[in-house]
Amino acid sequence: MRKRTLLLALLAWPALAADRFADVVITPTQVAPGIHMLQGAGGNIGVSAGSDGLLIIDDQFAPLANKIIAALTPLHPDSAGKPKFVINTHHHGDHTGANATFGRDGTIFAHHNVLKHLQADNSVSAAAYPVVTYDDGITFHFNQQKIEVMHQGIGHTDGDSMVWFAQQNVLHMGDLFFNNTFPYVDQGHGGSVRHYLARVEEALQLVNDQTKIIPGHGDLGNRNDLTRFKVMLQQSLAWAESMQEHPKSVWLAQGLPVHLQSWQWSFISNERWIETLWTEIQGK
Ligand SMILES: [Zn+2]
Repeated sequence: MRKRTLLLALLAWPALAADRFADVVITPTQVAPGIHMLQGAGGNIGVSAGSDGLLIIDDQFAPLANKIIAALTPLHPDSAGKPKFVINTHHHGDHTGANATFGRDGTIFAHHNVLKHLQADNSVSAAAYPVVTYDDGITFHFNQQKIEVMHQGIGHTDGDSMVWFAQQNVLHMGDLFFNNTFPYVDQGHGGSVRHYLARVEEALQLVNDQTKIIPGHGDLGNRNDLTRFKVMLQQSLAWAESMQEHPKSVWLAQGLPVHLQSWQWSFISNERWIETLWTEIQGK
């Protein structure tokens, strides 16, 4: 009887884990001719679809792989949902979770540090590792598009890439852009708020008023959204610098300026953003 209970418990566990994603719907949006965004759970996926096949930017979570394949299939039926190329904007599990599936038929590309961090994580299998890694970037010539993958330095982590489709005027920023919310800055993996701001300022040099900007999280954005996000980062850092003589207890007791508080969300509360800024100021 006990054996049977244990067996049932073991059988139930993966089912429960999968349940978290059972209701997730993958929603496609056409961003430009031949470029799409897929939203589901985790980081937004960018897609290049055309006569050469499929290329995807990020792949969310492993339990969503079949739903992602189903969403990709109508974009280029001959590929049957199997991209030739996968780009990881960084190592986080909500952007690389389905790597092991898509790496079977496709080749995964990422910055060197993405491979380093995935190799250091015992829960990630070797099948999920990027096969081609780069330092400051790599360029694809695919589907009559020039697809420039750029690593400009540390920001959200120490291995971020942005992907620029110059002719189509589309920029996928990975987690260097959270549209309308505080970002997560992974200071344990080389991330830094000041450097994150520098990456956002560089992106603003690239875009114009017509550019479609795919954020890591949130809805499709534009230059205005990215400018508001930059100002929020600048004002957050200015506030943190003005508070640097005070202990953290005073930061938390006083709280963020009221006009910044509306940027909080379930993952990055005002308190967590204060902690992030505190760590930034201590580390300088
Ligand atoms: Zn991330």
